[in-house]
Amino acid sequence: MTRLVLFDLDGTLVDSAPGIWASVRVAAGELGLPAPTPAQLRSMVGPPLQDGFAAVFGITGDDVDRAVTAYRAHYAAGAMFDAPPYPGVAELLAELRAGGATLAVATSKPEEFAVAILAHVGLLAEFAGVHGASFDGRVRHKDQVVAAALATHPDGDRPVLVGDRAQDVLGARVHGLPCIGAGWGPAPPGELADAGAAVVVATPGEVPAALATL
Ligand SMILES: [Mg+2]
Repeated sequence: MTRLVLFDLDGTLVDSAPGIWASVRVAAGELGLPAPTPAQLRSMVGPPLQDGFAAVFGITGDDVDRAVTAYRAHYAAGAMFDAPPYPGVAELLAELRAGGATLAVATSKPEEFAVAILAHVGLLAEFAGVHGASFDGRVRHKDQVVAAALATHPDGDRPVLVGDRAQDVLGARVHGLPCIGAGWGPAPPGELADAGAAVVVATPGEVPAALATL
């Protein structure tokens, strides 16, 4: 048995905000909405896309579908690659792997996009699996992608999720997993602790010590 460490992608492994924000602006323009505020843009990093557009812009039904389509067209055309890894992430993954851990990604981003981004930034080979959302939106919540990762690695020892938003903490908890809060991500102060993260760390370099306590 090896330690199973699951990672969220956006806001945890990579700073995907620039490409996400550009795509949200395009989608808002497409729907004739006012230019998104900085707070609205920040709120769109993390949640499943459909849920984010509905909650942040107050749109429903077909408008959500139109927003998602416009977003994805811009995103897939290249904006998604505007997502550099956070400093220290590559070193963290290498350290965990050297210590014998099995690493996998559990993300609300479509799986195909997640794989493409990880390949682009040179991190894909670190992961035994990438588990993400389906394009039809049926699989998109954190508990669903965590379930897929756990099913793929049933022998994983004391699985843990590392994630940057409340939905990571809550999705992990559905399966009884503790969550290490990625305090270097975009969450407002207190969000991860309030959601019940087992521990919140400020840098990727602090993750191994946090893992040792869980
Ligand atoms: Mg995230």
